[in-house]
Formats: sequence, structure tokens, C-alpha cells
Amino acid sequence: MILPKKDTPENPVLRGALSRLFELAVHVLWPVSCPVCGMTASPACPGCLAGLAEKSRRMLCAECMRPFPCPSHPGSVPLRYLTSFGGVSRDLVHLLKYGSRRELGRLMGRTMGEAFPRMRAALLVPVPLHAGSERAFNQSLELARGMADVWKAGFEDSLEWKISRPSQVGLPSSERKNIPKNAMQWKGQPPSGRTIWIVDDVCTTGATLRSAIQAVTASGSRVAGAFTWAMTPGV
Ligand SMILES: [Zn+2]
Ligand SMILES: [Zn+2]
Repeated sequence: MILPKKDTPENPVLRGALSRLFELAVHVLWPVSCPVCGMTASPACPGCLAGLAEKSRRMLCAECMRPFPCPSHPGSVPLRYLTSFGGVSRDLVHLLKYGSRRELGRLMGRTMGEAFPRMRAALLVPVPLHAGSERAFNQSLELARGMADVWKAGFEDSLEWKISRPSQVGLPSSERKNIPKNAMQWKGQPPSGRTIWIVDDVCTTGATLRSAIQAVTASGSRVAGAFTWAMTPGV
């Protein structure tokens, strides 16, 4: 069978100019572009985000960040992460957190939901913003929202910090391990009988995740594991 030739403008210069004009018009109407490939009119392409997922599906022990299952912590839960923190994966987190690109969070969360094995009857609970934070939104809640889209799961922003803590940016990782016990708590009705998965954007030492796990356990429920967008390498 002979397929008809596709219609294309004869003049490649004209074709290029028209296409650029179209892109510009779209960009003016919807001034966003994919932070990975630069495509206009898209906050981030699903394919570009999925391309960041590391092939190896390593799980880490939430207690010590060594491979899971961990002989030193038989009662620990697994932490899964999508990618290492650096380059584009770091740029995305910075755009989300400091560039107020809220819409990126849900898209990044959907990528996590697609990449990780789907957990049945999961309740996704994000790590909360610090008390007194001036951020307009909790980026980890947006990630949980995106994962919940894919898994058809529930999500609840039900944890809160009991302590105020200065920003840890710039502190060496050894200092970031020191979060006092019971620094976080469950607010509202305890999540009876639900299996909870903690969601965070970046994991460094795991101290924040452990505070979240402790708070859920203190409320009488069980954490089955944690998911983060990225893991800081070499800690
Ligand atoms: Zn893209
Ligand atoms: Zn361990």
C-alpha cells in the first residue's frame, strides 16, 4: 500500500519561522517550560521526569541508610528513592521549593507513583513543613498527591513538628542527624488500621524520616516504608 505523502510547507525557512512563532505564542499564553528539555507550554514532560528514575530499585534501611533488609535493624522499614540528588533532579526540587513551581510537585509525584511498586490500601503521609515555615505549600504533600493519583490511594497531611528548627542548609550531615525524640506528632484522628507510607522530597541522613515514623508509631499505627524523590549520595 502506498501511503500519501504528508503535507509539509515547501520552504524550510518559512516552516521553521512558523513553528517558532507558534511556540512563542504558546509560551506567551502559558509561560512555562519543561525544566529538563526546555519544551514550552509544559511544566515538565512525563517522559523527561521518568527518564530521571534510576534503573536499580535499591531499598535502604530507614534506620541506617544501608541496604535493606538490614541485619543490624531487623525491625526497620525500607526507603525507596527515585533518583540521586544532583543535576536536574536537584534543579527540579529547587524549582519546586524555592521557585514556587507548585505544579511540578504533583507531576514529580506521579513519576514516583509510576516508578515504585504500587502499594495496596496505602495511606500516603508527607513529611510536614517546619513550624513557622514561610513556604506557601508543602512540597512533599504535592509529591504524595501525585503518587495518590497513580495509585488511587489516600493521602493525608497529618504530621506536624512539635519543635521549631533552624534551616539545616549548610550544616554537615553529622549535625543533621540530631533531631530530638518525639519532635513530630500526628494531628487529629489517629489513622486506625491504615498502612502508612511516608513521603519526602530529599533524604539526607534519614533523621526526618525517622521522626515521622516515630510519630506515626506513637499514634498507634504502623509505617510500612518511605518514598523520596531523591537521595543525597555518599551519606
Ligand atoms: Zn521535557
Ligand atoms: Zn539498618
